[in-house]
Amino acid sequence: MSLDIEKLRSETPGVANRVHLNNAGAGLMPRPVLDAMVGHLTREAEIGGYEAASEAAADLEGVYDSVARLLGSGRDEIALTENATVAWQLAFYSQTFRPGDRILTARAEYAANYVAFLQMAKRTGAMIEVIPDDGNGVLDQDALDRMIDDRVRLIAITWIPTNGGLRNPAAAVGRIARKHGVRYLLDACQAVGQMPTRLEELGCDFLTATGRKFLRGPRGTGFLYVRRDLMLGLEPPMIDHFGAPWVAPDRYELRRDARRFETWENNYAARLGLGRAIEYALNLGLGKIEERCRTLSAQLRDGLRTIPGVTVQDLGQNPASIVTFSIKDHDAESVRATLSHSGFNVSVSYPSSTLLDAQARHLPALIRASPHYYNTEDEVCRFIAAMSKAVDA
Ligand SMILES: *Cc1c(COP(=O)(O)O)cnc(C)c1O
Repeated sequence: MSLDIEKLRSETPGVANRVHLNNAGAGLMPRPVLDAMVGHLTREAEIGGYEAASEAAADLEGVYDSVARLLGSGRDEIALTENATVAWQLAFYSQTFRPGDRILTARAEYAANYVAFLQMAKRTGAMIEVIPDDGNGVLDQDALDRMIDDRVRLIAITWIPTNGGLRNPAAAVGRIARKHGVRYLLDACQAVGQMPTRLEELGCDFLTATGRKFLRGPRGTGFLYVRRDLMLGLEPPMIDHFGAPWVAPDRYELRRDARRFETWENNYAARLGLGRAIEYALNLGLGKIEERCRTLSAQLRDGLRTIPGVTVQDLGQNPASIVTFSIKDHDAESVRATLSHSGFNVSVSYPSSTLLDAQARHLPALIRASPHYYNTEDEVCRFIAAMSKAVDA
């Protein structure tokens, strides 16, 4: 059965107000997510924060099961974090590097990750190397395979970059990492909620993701997966008495699960919203969601290509639902503002968010339109019409 778009829209308050094509920024939350969060906040106000948390204890534990179902991991391999960046930092900064150790990454790596590489390189003498891409801008698997030697300590890539529909071959990278026994950290922020994200295919040691984008969860949520056998040997870069209980005056003991990366205090309403968002996506089916995203983003790209002066900037085959484009003689920020005035939500992807790729391709600031399954063909048509008008202006 295909997705019942009318029903899904009736469960999405935001679609009444905006044509929301900014799911790579923050997806519109569906009603059940909102209800879970507001419900918990209300209970906190009514009976107290600690008391509301114990009342919701089973649901709060269930959030780990939801993430584990989404990824196909064990629940003990999941840490919940305040965003994906923190999840990534916890994984990355728990690695140790010596001078000359190599960190391999991809051309369209996200700025937050890259500046951390730079800091680590400065601190330790590790080297950052960019895996070449094939003629289509996609990470070149054979080149990666040839780059690996015993100084490679980590492969850390973004699956789907923030600045376009490019899909890096995350699963193929996993096979190469396994073959050579190299640790593999995958930033899956733009993939979760948009397509199946199954660890048995990906073969990564660490995966980080956010709740706020295609998962349609609340802002300020994220999670970290850490492979169990690795996790037990990892010292988190920072600890508190939740992740590492203080068991004797001179000793702490790290938890035996991925929650060793967590801290004591949390936004429980947001966690419950995240859990609900994951269940919502799982109920619909990630395969169906991906299919629908593919249809809408293809319609959007095809339409944009008919507008003179518009250049679609997405790389690779079968691009994901992040459509980026530039417009000749128009500044992205002012086009975004014009669109916003007419009720269309898009965002602007600045060169500094993926600097290496932007410089290599001489990209200006791009308009980024990211449809989700709950958008309609009609909305896409209206957006294309609005773009044509903006270009003529
Ligand atoms: C959005 C994004 C992040 C950061 O996610 P937060 O939850 O905001 O920390 C990291 N990497 C990529 C590729 C992203 O698109």
